[in-house]
Amino acid sequence: MTASFCSLEGKVSLVTGGARGIGAAISRELAAAGASVCVNYRSGSEAASELAAEIGGVAIQGDVSDSAAGAQLVADAEAALGPLSILVNNAGITRDTLIARMSDEEWNEVIDTNLNGMFHTCRAVARGMMKRREGVIVNLTSVVGLRGNPGQTNYAASKAGIIGFTKSLARELGGRGVRANAVAPGYISTELTDVLPDEAKDAILQATPLARLGDPVDVAGTVRFLCSDEARFVTGEVILVDGGLGM
Ligand code: NDP
Repeated sequence: MTASFCSLEGKVSLVTGGARGIGAAISRELAAAGASVCVNYRSGSEAASELAAEIGGVAIQGDVSDSAAGAQLVADAEAALGPLSILVNNAGITRDTLIARMSDEEWNEVIDTNLNGMFHTCRAVARGMMKRREGVIVNLTSVVGLRGNPGQTNYAASKAGIIGFTKSLARELGGRGVRANAVAPGYISTELTDVLPDEAKDAILQATPLARLGDPVDVAGTVRFLCSDEARFVTGEVILVDGGLGM
């Protein structure tokens, strides 16, 4: 291993939902690796501005679930920092409930944010990355997208969709020097999982060989690796970062 292992020096990156939870850890990790980072947020402008100041990046508002806003976000990021070489689609939400009770709104909000949001930003970066023959896309899926989970049909559908999308993207863009991979976290301590009841957390710990919830930095290191040249022959892959839960 050299000092420059997984260096992202000179790279320009955009992290959607990059100001909180796993996204914030990814923003910090990419910056520590030398990349310039555009920290996207939807509603948390204060957290995003503070983080951008801390890591020397820029904070840019944008709701990825909206088609025009997703495209505008990529345009704003490139206007601020230059052509993007790294896109991390991290923005995601849950609206958990059992299928018989699930409203159209709960279904659509999750699909619009998690799946359509990723489509909007990937479409916006694709042409430029192909033209420059340089680019890496990392999409956050979930162990739930592989295994399913009661009460999360909407979330699981969005996360399974991300996997099929990412593999297709890898096949479509690989010949142009652009890689696309997915990272599937298990249960990571963030605001998203803070709401889980204690019994659910206990059950997760029982099923996780490493016997703990993950920390956002556990995920960020894998994203950094995938973005780096050390992963230059890795594309269309789904890497589980889950303490062994999903094997
Ligand atoms: P958090 O709830 O902590 O953070 C979610 C982030 O997404 C926030 O930064 C939020 O921004 C942003 N966001 C939500 N909706 C939008 C939108 N429409 N446009 C732009 N940004 C948006 O979640 P986590 O950090 O836990 O999760 C991050 C990703 O990892 C998600 O995709 C999630 O599905 C995935 N994941 C998480 C796991 C976990 O255990 N925590 C497990 C597996 C996968 P703002 O604050 O500005 O609204």
